[in-house]
Amino acid sequence: MRVRVADVGDNRGLPPTDATMTALPNCPICAMPNTYEDGDNFVCADCGHEWPVAGEAPGEAATTVRDSNGNLLADGDTVVVIKDLKVKGSSIPLKQGTVIKHIRLVDGDAEHIEGNSDKIKGLVLKTCFLRKA
Ligand SMILES: [Zn+2]
Repeated sequence: MRVRVADVGDNRGLPPTDATMTALPNCPICAMPNTYEDGDNFVCADCGHEWPVAGEAPGEAATTVRDSNGNLLADGDTVVVIKDLKVKGSSIPLKQGTVIKHIRLVDGDAEHIEGNSDKIKGLVLKTCFLRKA
């Protein structure tokens, strides 16, 4: 007597059942709700659009901070200033090319980081003027 493989043993290859599914997003192209998960992608049954599951994960839990090129920044990163910037309360401008080491992210603020240049301490910088070194 043969055992039907689909009924026993390794379940990992089977698609998740309704009970374990998280809410599927609507298709970002046609906005139809007839989407399903296929491996690492969501697929739209209506228009056939596929997009990565990872990219749809809600990022609410942690602030995502990106530099001018869209690279992720993290505490301790080194960044380079991409244009001359005036510094409030200082007569010294922050020069293009200035290296800021060991930046600190600002809680709940995706547009600014804190850091020190060689000349100026306690800078708060807009991430759109920075590039990850
Ligand atoms: Zn679609």
